[in-house]
Amino acid sequence: MMYLDNSATTKPYPEVLQVYQQVSERYFGNPSSLHQLGIDASRLLNETRKQMLHYTGLKQYEIIFTSGATEANNIAIKGAALAKMNRGKHIVTTEIEHPSVIESFEQLKALFGFDITYIQVNEHGHADMTHLKEVLRPDTVLVSMMHVNNETGAIQPIEEAAGIIREHAENALFHVDGVQGMCKVALNKQLDVDLLTMSGHKIHGLKGTGALFLKKDVTLAPFITGGEQELGLRSGTENPAGAVSLAKAMKQSFEQLDKYHNEMLNLKTQLQKQLGEIEGIVMNTPRAQSAPHIVNFSVPGIQIEVLLHMLEKEGIYVSTTSACSAKKKEPSRVLLAMGKPEEVAKSSMRISLTYGQGPELTPQIITSIAQSVKKLKGMR
Ligand code: PMP
Repeated sequence: MMYLDNSATTKPYPEVLQVYQQVSERYFGNPSSLHQLGIDASRLLNETRKQMLHYTGLKQYEIIFTSGATEANNIAIKGAALAKMNRGKHIVTTEIEHPSVIESFEQLKALFGFDITYIQVNEHGHADMTHLKEVLRPDTVLVSMMHVNNETGAIQPIEEAAGIIREHAENALFHVDGVQGMCKVALNKQLDVDLLTMSGHKIHGLKGTGALFLKKDVTLAPFITGGEQELGLRSGTENPAGAVSLAKAMKQSFEQLDKYHNEMLNLKTQLQKQLGEIEGIVMNTPRAQSAPHIVNFSVPGIQIEVLLHMLEKEGIYVSTTSACSAKKKEPSRVLLAMGKPEEVAKSSMRISLTYGQGPELTPQIITSIAQSVKKLKGMR
């Protein structure tokens, strides 16, 4: 099997499963309990937070454990906007965000009357920083921009955005959806971001684990209320085994990235070059400023699911668009935002890699795709 759908989800490391079981058995106490079992579980959680701050180098942050990035994005975006709404109701994001970001924004608009501006992207899928500068206002209270786009792999100019936001929107908090960049694309440790979100199952951790990194001086309005766990921002009994498994996945993924970054990048570069040369294929992933693990291309004129299943028969697992949108069968919103024709946006395929997959896989992938496309296009 050649699993090339690592942006949809990854296989957990065996050590992650092991540590989840060990912690579940040994630290089963409720971290809020006053007896020793509770104290031990609570200490373990706090140790785990420290470890994750150490691995990422984000020392000036707090960590809120969540069930994944969808929940972390909701807590960050709604919490920030609602905490700041006395300063203004203008919120800004890009046209190419994940639905958990866009839908949070749209809900703020529908329920509370926030005014949303969507930043355009250029033909390569990078957010337009001139547009960002133009739209920021004194009443802008939140800007949200992803680090790496989940469909195309385009790396967004988050450092430049942070500078622009600090200069032109003094009341705005800056949120970065870090899901697809975490442990794949280096994050500047000095990056001036208020809120950063991540997901465990994209880095060989477990589904149902994730985190929000919250800068120490930032206040959010809580909307998951109850027992006030996780700084009062995510009530509900904590999941120490999930948290420890997340830290384990993160540690191992950073180590794997050090070891395999170049190999993964070589495979991606080879695939991008050789796929782009196949007749009938249009490349969507940009050449510059793109992550080492995502290649997105389209085959206009064919039903892309058919190609997906032909590849599956050969043991090659890929995605059409992103996993969340795949079942909707709508043209890719991201590709449309890049100005691609509907035929291209309807027929995209994503290959997403992980550590240890190197350029030696190129010939098999290219041959399988080239032959299948030829068949589907009726070419000889
Ligand atoms: N943001 C991005 C960019 C993603 O790719 C995903 C996962 N598809 C999410 C958020 C949501 O993550 P989760 O599956 O952990 O809710």
